[in-house]
Amino acid sequence: MRIILLGPPGSGKGTQAKLLSKRYGIPHIAMGDILREEVARKTPLGEKVNVYMSKGELVPDEIVIEVLKKRLQEADCTNGFILDGFPRTLNQAKALDNMLSELNLKIDAVIYIEVPDEEIMKRLSLRRTCKVCGRIYNLHYNPPKQDGKCDVCGGELIIRDDDKPEVIKNRLKVYNEQTKPLVDYYENHRLLIRINGVNTIDSVFQQIVEKLSLKKKVNQ
Ligand code: AMP
Repeated sequence: MRIILLGPPGSGKGTQAKLLSKRYGIPHIAMGDILREEVARKTPLGEKVNVYMSKGELVPDEIVIEVLKKRLQEADCTNGFILDGFPRTLNQAKALDNMLSELNLKIDAVIYIEVPDEEIMKRLSLRRTCKVCGRIYNLHYNPPKQDGKCDVCGGELIIRDDDKPEVIKNRLKVYNEQTKPLVDYYENHRLLIRINGVNTIDSVFQQIVEKLSLKKKVNQ
């Protein structure tokens, strides 16, 4: 199964992608995580992309398209994948279509997790990330057992640079201007599955699994 997760930053794409990855046994490819890893390792690519990421801007299409192309060629992608944070522009969506059609492959479904802007502001400003393992917490919905410490590895919980309030506003603006048009694009391609993201993690996951299985039947 080849799935795209679409939705504003903080809509729960990463959380749901991890659950779906376990359920279907296919890799979770998170463009933001791949780029953050490059930044952390201070590679030349990391230094280049950090200029955009720290301001909440999108990294140029040609860079992320190249990164994705490489990732999709890895062996674990043969049975499918879950894309989280890619595509984010119409140009990226078209590049992905071309990449897949060269391999005679297609996207099966695009899961669009809908969450209003006000809710996003609330969620992202309360988001904390483990500095060591990357696990995500929310001080309101999903707090750590011990203040400031990761439940899993004990690492320090920090606020991601791009989760600072002024950057969140910009990320939302960028999302609404550049990524939201993909909703129409995939609706026109009859791939879109709409999910109400203002719900518990489990209930969002159940909605996704049910709608995906319906879609699979329709596609057959
Ligand atoms: P995320 O973790 O998905 O919120 O991504 C964090 C940041 O990485 C974004 O704000 C962008 O700066 C960059 N980024 C991630 N995915 C993409 C993409 N597909 N196109 C351009 N920039 C991206």
